[in-house]
Amino acid sequence: MTGSSILMIYTGGTIGMKQDPKDQTLKPFDFSQILEEVPELGKYALNIDSYTFNPLIDSSDVEPSLWQSLATLIKDRYDEYDGFVVLHGTDTMAYSASALSFMLDNLTKPVIFTGSQLPIGVPRTDGKENLISAVEIAAAKDEDGHSLVPEVCIFFDSQLLRGNRCTKVSSEEFRAFRSPNYPALAEAGINIRYNRKAIAEPQDWSAPIRISTNLDTRVSILKVHPGITPQVMRYFLCGDGTRAVILETYGSGNAPSSQWFLDIVREAAAMGKVLMNVTQCLSGSVDMDLYATGKALEKIGVVSGRDITTESALAKLFCLMGDSKDNEWVKNRLGDNLKGEISK
Ligand code: ASP
Repeated sequence: MTGSSILMIYTGGTIGMKQDPKDQTLKPFDFSQILEEVPELGKYALNIDSYTFNPLIDSSDVEPSLWQSLATLIKDRYDEYDGFVVLHGTDTMAYSASALSFMLDNLTKPVIFTGSQLPIGVPRTDGKENLISAVEIAAAKDEDGHSLVPEVCIFFDSQLLRGNRCTKVSSEEFRAFRSPNYPALAEAGINIRYNRKAIAEPQDWSAPIRISTNLDTRVSILKVHPGITPQVMRYFLCGDGTRAVILETYGSGNAPSSQWFLDIVREAAAMGKVLMNVTQCLSGSVDMDLYATGKALEKIGVVSGRDITTESALAKLFCLMGDSKDNEWVKNRLGDNLKGEISK
């Protein structure tokens, strides 16, 4: 790790705020002065550069264009650095980390997203510990000199999680993220313990990084709920603006069994829409063979999202649809485990 170079990319969010002594309001601080704010980082013999997005944004304003800029920045600076730390608001961090995991191909270096619940400039902040550990992980190498974690991850409250497996579960607790269907890649205690069996190895350490920045965002997400009406269903599933629909269903992929419900799904399928079944449950998987409605959806052509998160399903669809105009091809690829986002 000694001598490694890290690029710290600040996009906005709570972590980079500090109190203005004049009026006590929270303002973003200058990341080029990061060592003044977090002098602990100076104890590592690392070369840390920073890049600050302009404008800085609250992550509720994140758009796919930010992901395109991030992917391009990482590709352009890839050879100069051993790892990347992305500072990002927590609200949409799971979406951004999922998107980057699909947009970066042949990744051999860590891209670690982090942020915080309390600004770095206030007492009791969780930002310092998150940032310091994220930097240490981004710089960590194995005995062969390869990065220990060549993946897009989220580091938060002492856990390193695969980015496309995460979801934000708390707006208050320091443990804001969970990866319900995949184990943590590392735990930071007195030492950082890497779960090396869970970390994906690149197929070829020498393959050059590639990025896919074509994204097709014509996706809608419909959470099935008691009392859902045909009007709402038809609007989401059959509207002109959507090419794909994520149906957030109950439990292991269940939905109402009424004829009108299945008829509208059939209508959307006949229009050629890509329909994906993702569970509303925090953990566990869709299994469309388990119940009659699940089976009926499968017969209509709805694709099982298995144990994917909604955030990851959205990002996967954006990327696959950006790659091809052929919806049948997209449906076939949805079942493939592209970046560790679904279990085998
Ligand atoms: N609203 C903020 C954001 O997501 C919250 C945070 O940074 O944690 O940008």
